[in-house]
Amino acid sequence: MSPNLIKALLHGKCPRCHTGDMFAYRSSNLMKFAVMHESCPHCQVRLEPEPGFYQGAMYVGYGITVAAMVAITGILYIFGNSSEWVYIGVIVSFMVLIAPLNYRYSRIIYLYLFGGIKFDSRYTQ
Ligand SMILES: [Zn+2]
Repeated sequence: MSPNLIKALLHGKCPRCHTGDMFAYRSSNLMKFAVMHESCPHCQVRLEPEPGFYQGAMYVGYGITVAAMVAITGILYIFGNSSEWVYIGVIVSFMVLIAPLNYRYSRIIYLYLFGGIKFDSRYTQ
């Protein structure tokens, strides 16, 4: 993976031009964080390749959730926690806090992996 690909992925940019935003609003906008552009505002590639495409992104979101749960459990265990309610409270709170990011990154990663859209330098700038 090239540094440009990782940077574009982390910033939620279009997989073809790495310039246009996939999402219309910032992830901190809790009312509209899920609103996506239908097509890239820069290169006009369709960001939903087929109807229902993003249903598969649930599996990516599930993977992110499990990875976060394992990491939090490990950290709490290392710090000597023994109460299951602390585990549950910390994990549920963390997952609610990162829900907008989980939603967006599961869609971004899914589009980059399975969208069939390759980077094309002719569309940059
Ligand atoms: Zn684009």
